[in-house]
Amino acid sequence: MGPVTLSEILSMARPGVAIAAFNFTNLEDLRGIMAAAELEQAPVIIQTTETTVKHSGLEYLAAMGRAAARVAGVPVCLHLDHATDFNLVVRAIRLGYSSVMIDGSRLPFEENVAVTAEAVRVAHAVGVSVEAELGQVGGKEDCACSTCCSTDGELHLVDVDEAVEFVRRTNIDALAPAVGTMHGIYKAPPCIRFDLIEEVHRATGLPLVLHGGSGLPRAIVREAIVRGVRKFNVATDLQAAYVAAWRKALASSGGSIDSRRAGAHAMEAVCEAAREKIRMCMGEER
Ligand SMILES: [Zn+2]
Repeated sequence: MGPVTLSEILSMARPGVAIAAFNFTNLEDLRGIMAAAELEQAPVIIQTTETTVKHSGLEYLAAMGRAAARVAGVPVCLHLDHATDFNLVVRAIRLGYSSVMIDGSRLPFEENVAVTAEAVRVAHAVGVSVEAELGQVGGKEDCACSTCCSTDGELHLVDVDEAVEFVRRTNIDALAPAVGTMHGIYKAPPCIRFDLIEEVHRATGLPLVLHGGSGLPRAIVREAIVRGVRKFNVATDLQAAYVAAWRKALASSGGSIDSRRAGAHAMEAVCEAAREKIRMCMGEER
């Protein structure tokens, strides 16, 4: 089976459950992710960022992602994460991505609406789903309540009325609202606005996407999912597992130059990390 769309895969998530979305950068982390999804018998979203596209090449990533979907025993969505370049969105769709995120969150509201609506027009014409972002998910600064809960802080959280208007004017399939999470590694526990998750979910009726899922305690992840998150993004935690396993395997390799040995350990570590996240998404205690 080929990749399914984001709409299709998110419709498989009943209330209280989210579909895990993992960023992959190469064949090994992708195979670790796919092994995890198969072992947990869970649908999975595999995604690539613009930086990964620059590193690995869109053609290679699309081919790997499509192969993963074809051989998997679970539904797989192949998604382009955080595309700011409209041409990249078009190229990804042509190469078989079943879902794209157009990220106009750094643009003024009207420009975000315009670029997102255009991406939806192109994507929907060929049966591809679109995710978009409103507000700005942080990426560099650590979080303090006094910052993220204020209106003029560095984090620009989503506005509920704007979200409703944005969804109505763009016809997107999933919304990533800025609710206090950040990409990368948290230096302090984040202040997640669960009330905003619930309000935006209720007001828009759309499945929500939580970016910056790495490093979040289980209780926070569960609360976000119960309030309306249906797609849970994880990148950093898998990268960390991959690199740590590589380092450890190389250090104990006795000077072996067989990269597959270290790669096998890295794959296994990614699989274990991904399984833990999938179980969090499904609400399982294991
Ligand atoms: Zn993100």
